[in-house]
Formats: sequence, C-alpha cells, structure tokens
Amino acid sequence: MTRTPSIVDRIRSSSDGRVPFSVEFSPPRDEAAEARLWRAVREFERLGPAFVSMTYGAGGSTRDRTVRVTGQLAEETTLLPVAHLTAVSHSVDELRSMVGAYADRGISNILVLRGDPPGDPLGEWEKHPDGVEYAEELVRLVRDLGDFHVGVASFPEGHYRAPDLAHDTRYLVSKLRAGAEYSITQMFFDVDDYLRLRDRVSAYDPEQGAKPIIPEIMPITSLRSVRRVLELSGSSLPAHLEKRLATAAGDGPEENRAAVREIGIDVATEMSERLIAEGAPGLHFITLNFARATSEVLARLGDKVGSGVADPAPVTSARVS
Ligand SMILES: Cc1cc2nc3c(=O)[nH]c(=O)nc-3n(C[C@H](O)[C@H](O)[C@H](O)COP(=O)(O)OP(=O)(O)OC[C@H]3O[C@@H](n4cnc5c(N)ncnc54)[C@H](O)[C@@H]3O)c2cc1C
Repeated sequence: MTRTPSIVDRIRSSSDGRVPFSVEFSPPRDEAAEARLWRAVREFERLGPAFVSMTYGAGGSTRDRTVRVTGQLAEETTLLPVAHLTAVSHSVDELRSMVGAYADRGISNILVLRGDPPGDPLGEWEKHPDGVEYAEELVRLVRDLGDFHVGVASFPEGHYRAPDLAHDTRYLVSKLRAGAEYSITQMFFDVDDYLRLRDRVSAYDPEQGAKPIIPEIMPITSLRSVRRVLELSGSSLPAHLEKRLATAAGDGPEENRAAVREIGIDVATEMSERLIAEGAPGLHFITLNFARATSEVLARLGDKVGSGVADPAPVTSARVS
C-alpha cells in the first residue's frame, strides 16, 4: 500500500502559526452533481486544505461512485483524501474489501463510523448479522488490515443514543484507545459545547485527550436545509440563533436566502475565530460540494488559517462554484 501522510502529521506540520482548515464533500448522486463536486474540488485545490473528507452512504450505486470519486481525489488532484467508512448493512468481509478498495487507490486515511440505519437515521440500529455493533470494533478491524490512519466521530452535545455525557465520553475514549489517532466532531453551533467535550475527554484520559479533536463547522446558507441536517443528526441550533435566522428568513413561502446566508457566514466566521483563539487543532468545513460559502469564511479569517500544505494560494477571494 502506498503510504500517504496521516491527518495528524498534516495538521501538525502547519508550523507557520496558522490553524489548518479542511473540508468535507459528499458523494455525488448523478453526473450533474459530480460536475459540481469537481468545480468545488478544483477551487479548494487552489486554496490548499490540509485534507478533504468524503462521506459514505449505504446503497450500491452511490457506494461505487464514492469509491471511484475518492480514488480520483487521491490519484488526480493535489488533495489528501480521507474516506469515511460506515458499518451499515455490511458484513465484516464486505468491510474488509471496502478497505482494500481504498488501499488499492492509495488511500490510507479512513474516518471510521458506525453509520445510521438506512431510511430513518434516528430509527432502531440493527447490526448486520455478520457485521460489527460499534465503531470501536471497526477501528480495530481497519487497524488490523494494515498501515491505516484512522479517525473517528465525536459529539460536542453527546451522541443522541448515548444515555448521558459520561457514557458518550467513555465510548469516544474507547475508540481512541482502540487506535484512532484523532476525531472529527459532529457540527455544532455553540463553541462551549466543543470546549466542554475537549475538557471531558482530557479529564477522563489525559493521554487520549491529547489527540486532536477537529471541530466541524457548517456555514449555514439555508434555514430549511440546516434544519433538515440537524433533524437527521440529532444536533441542535441554539434558540437565539434559530430566532435570528427565522426572522431573517421571513414568513413568506420562499425564505430570504441572502439574509440567512449573511448570518450563516457571520456565525461560521465568529465560531472559527473563537475556536482558533481556544487552540482548536484545525477547522473542518461542511461544504455540501459548494466552495463559495466556505471560501468566504476563509477569506474573512485571513491569515489566521493556513493549510498544512506547502505554498497554497493565499485565501483572498471567494469564487462562485
Ligand atoms: C465527523 C462525522 C462524520 C460522519 N460521516 C458519516 C458518513 O460518512 N456516513 C454516515 O452514514 N454517517 C456519518 N456520520 C454519522 C454517524 O455515523 C452517526 O452519528 C452514528 O449514529 C454514530 O456513529 P459513531 O461512529 O459515533 O458510532 P459509535 O461510536 O459506534 O456509537 C454509536 C452509539 O453507540 C454508543 N456506544 C458506543 N460504544 C458503545 C458500547 N461499547 N456500549 C454501549 N454503547 C456504545 C455511542 O454512545 C453511540 O450512542 C458522521 C458523524 C460525524 C461526527
């Protein structure tokens, strides 16, 4: 297997005092969506993220497209891809062959997740009869398969299936002890939730607490779509922000997208500034395969953010994707 830099090496090599940023893409569903993804990929290549991650959805054709496109990111761009991998609907044999498919394409960074039940993400979880129950087992499985660099999910508000924050912390630490090198958080809108998560993990296990917890940020561009994403993820919008966005959206049949977007970019910038001041190891942006909102936030952050990559283009302007 070709060994590529690990995410931890990449974010820690940003020695110029700037906090590295990275971005999340989703698998395109059809050719038009794939063309849009590639426009965003080329734009981000110019900006130089430390890494890019590609989410993973269950279902045959999307899955094949995900593996192919993630492979192309590794082979045909200057970006460092992280492949998300979930345990949903997969036997252990299938999981092994997925990991092999990524390794064949030179991908050694994998974000290991349990995933949610297909159809209704908040519904009852059912393990595949020959699969794994928790992400922790998948961490061990991937680590046993070779020289992979594994990351896992963490939850500033606690995972919605965890009985309480103490259990949530314990399970996250188990995934880290099983060999995960870092975690990326669920998106959140209250920076204090991120800081409390970091404190909880450090208090429970200082050694594991030293591993990077990379905060995930979603620049809001539509109230309707952020509400939908939050509903599916079990996270929440603070009441004051919900009210601010709802007032900006107005009560007509079409929300005032420009006003909502303006607040979304402001909030993502303010959160990023506070996270940088609090020593976050990186900033991971949900892009929905568009470059524009994230690049606007990056332009506003100016030289506080960097890339972990030698000589990226300066982040000066936002381009339309
Ligand atoms: C950064 C990020 C990226 C994501 N990307 C994707 C993606 O690409 N595709 C996708 O489908 N989903 C994705 N998700 C969503 C994720 O799959 C869900 O949130 C899922 O419900 C939990 O996954 P996990 O890996 O944290 O599971 P686990 O760590 O297995 O936890 C699942 C639940 O079980 C509990 N638990 C863990 N261990 C134990 C134990 N030993 N005993 C009892 N309970 C336990 C946990 O508290 C939690 O409630 C992502 C989430 C994040 C934060």
